[in-house]
Amino acid sequence: MKDVKRASFGIPGETLCGRRLGLYIHIPFCVQKCLYCDFLSAPAGEGERERYVEALCREIVREGKKYADYTVRTIYIGGGTPSLLAGERILHILTLVYQCFRVEMDCEISLEANPGTVTADKLKDWRRAGINRISLGVQSLQDEELKALGRIHDSQTFLDTYKMVVESGFNNINIDLMSGIPGQSPDSYRDTLEKVVTLNKRPAHISAYGLIIEEGTPFFENTPHLPDEDCEREMYALTGEFLAKFGYCRYEISNYAFPGYECRHNIGYWRRENYLGLGAGAASLIENVRFRNLRDTGGYEQMQELPSESGQGKVLPERDGMFHEERQVLSKAEQMEEFMFLGLRMTKGVSREEFSEAFGTAMDEVYPGIVENFCKKGLLREQKDDKTGRTWISLTDYGMDISNYVMADFLLTV
Ligand code: SF4
Repeated sequence: MKDVKRASFGIPGETLCGRRLGLYIHIPFCVQKCLYCDFLSAPAGEGERERYVEALCREIVREGKKYADYTVRTIYIGGGTPSLLAGERILHILTLVYQCFRVEMDCEISLEANPGTVTADKLKDWRRAGINRISLGVQSLQDEELKALGRIHDSQTFLDTYKMVVESGFNNINIDLMSGIPGQSPDSYRDTLEKVVTLNKRPAHISAYGLIIEEGTPFFENTPHLPDEDCEREMYALTGEFLAKFGYCRYEISNYAFPGYECRHNIGYWRRENYLGLGAGAASLIENVRFRNLRDTGGYEQMQELPSESGQGKVLPERDGMFHEERQVLSKAEQMEEFMFLGLRMTKGVSREEFSEAFGTAMDEVYPGIVENFCKKGLLREQKDDKTGRTWISLTDYGMDISNYVMADFLLTV
């Protein structure tokens, strides 16, 4: 079978239309539930997966009509465990996306995969489907730690999976790592980092998050013994120092990449670009309206059965709200605070000029003295880019360490 044909819009790197869009596609299935996980995901049989994909496809067709004048720059298939689906299903979903949306030629197309659910055949299908970035949920390379988290894989399964992914030709690979795992120590964390950077081909991107105990998870009900605060701080500091030695640049509080491999899709979230979530529970931000699809998978599937079009092929706007929950039209104050606290997550920070262009008012008018004050305390820095003439405000290393404290001062609505 030949690769799926993506409509060849535009010149690589350029958009045809002014309005750009990221697409997020949610696959809510996993082999088993990890003990710390509060994502929308659950084990499911073949029939359930099939019904869900059918509903998802109906949503893709309906939403494609609504976003005809947007160009899709990034697609992210997340979960759950999208790699659990048969390769042909992923191929089918993406083929439909290419038919229903205008997709940029050099669109970044990521798929989340978990070790233990990847096969050589699936990898072939993913490449045929146009996927060009794989994100592997690894968390740790210590078997005891993986077991403590309730993960389905061990370190050897990861190594085998990683080898397969590399051999199948993917060169844009992310690895998710975790600190603060029960039984983890700075030494075992360093050992995991060492194993990752001594892989035959190093991953181009590493996301390093701390474990958070979320309500409603088995860890919340029965919290295991966790590394103490000093250990956590040591691991946090180690991540940046260690990865920098191997050429990784920190571009966001928890994300590191070789230059040119920063995740464009996630940068879109932090820059508040338009994104559309497809699938149960998927969140969207469109022209400053935030909304979310129904979280209940059965309810989501039923909604996709409803006719949403008039006889002329037009989507009926009055039906729109029925597919969504948590719909929120952002006020100007909410947009401004999001601009600041999402933008400051990135090491590049936020630009004074972009703020003025977006809101028609200067940053210092809205936040009098705040930037100056944090600059004096060594938590923020202000730099002028001579090429563009723009002034960027960003967190210093110290500011990154206590970013929550800094961000709190940019809230306007609490
Ligand atoms: S694999 Fe990921 S989404 Fe699935 S249960 Fe584990 S943490 Fe949650």
